[in-house]
Amino acid sequence: MSIASDGDVKVQGASLRSLPKISLHDHLDGAVRPATVVELAQEIGLELPHTSTGSVSDGRALGDWFGSQADSGSLVNYLKTFDLTVGVMQSAEALTRVAREFVEDLAEDGVIYGEVRWAPEQHLSGGLSLDDAVDAVQQGIEEGEDAADRDGRSIRVGQILSAMRQNDRALEIAELALDHREDGVVGFDIAGPEDGFPASDHREAFDLLAANFMPVTVHAGEAAGLASIRSALLDGRALRLGHGVRIVSDLEVMGRDGEEVQVRFGDLARWVRDREIPLELSPSSNVHTGAIEAWGAELADHPFDLLYQLGFAVTVNVDNRTMSRTSLTRELALLVDAFGYDLDDLETFQFNAAAATFLPVEEREELVEMIAEGFRRA
Ligand SMILES: [Zn+2]
Repeated sequence: MSIASDGDVKVQGASLRSLPKISLHDHLDGAVRPATVVELAQEIGLELPHTSTGSVSDGRALGDWFGSQADSGSLVNYLKTFDLTVGVMQSAEALTRVAREFVEDLAEDGVIYGEVRWAPEQHLSGGLSLDDAVDAVQQGIEEGEDAADRDGRSIRVGQILSAMRQNDRALEIAELALDHREDGVVGFDIAGPEDGFPASDHREAFDLLAANFMPVTVHAGEAAGLASIRSALLDGRALRLGHGVRIVSDLEVMGRDGEEVQVRFGDLARWVRDREIPLELSPSSNVHTGAIEAWGAELADHPFDLLYQLGFAVTVNVDNRTMSRTSLTRELALLVDAFGYDLDDLETFQFNAAAATFLPVEEREELVEMIAEGFRRA
């Protein structure tokens, strides 16, 4: 099966793009349209990258550059791309535009609810305050929702504020999230270098969030292993795991009995499975960042299917659409290609995601109904 960059394929006659979907792990600075980066960079005089064919001057060439950096096998090259996207997002106008386009692109991809995460502390070099930055993103989200509405598409997007693990502003960002919870913010996250910067470093922020019942997800089990996942759950009191893919190293696969995989669970893996702690798996990104390198270098080596078969609450995510040159539709298509999933499987992933959103329960139930209806019509 060859999957075009727009990612749409038909599964049992249904267009994957037209199916209702939920995007839980989707970075704002990882989803900027390349053409927008070019325009904003030119406005502020930020230098665009040079390639073997000269300086990048249009969105198409820049899109290719993002893709080659992400696919280079080097996490350093991968992370370099964010200097550029974050660099152009330092004014209220730029944040609003990028957030609006983010929502429009999700709506175009058939997403009915999304949670956009980003780190306000990285967007202050143009003189914005943390509050201004959150307001600017919220403004863009609402403009994007309205634009989608006018197009006959219904989408809602909530903000997840990320604190950077290597910095010491997590408490401030936790307070910011609480201040804006009636105004678009639905949760909190920590992002950045996982190895060496455990969730326990930010215990004070997590205590404040827990005391105020603010939902938390933590990037864990992506670039570090079980100790990081443990800290995300115990210190961070994370309700979801950002990727969490390395939970597999707490499983001992004994063999197969017919269809059934025989596995011995460690205590941590058993907890994550039995408590149905959602895993925000991101197939292409997990290949690009080396998160699954212990299992192989191809998407078909991803332990996604093992986790699904064992009953973990798996969800499908994009992580960074621009760098991985992907969409939620395309990630589902890649999984169908690798593991032969049918519409029932894809619907299960969306139900898992609906249950995992940081929305009130009535709204989660509404999403479940919309998904069921969309898949029934497919
Ligand atoms: Zn991420």
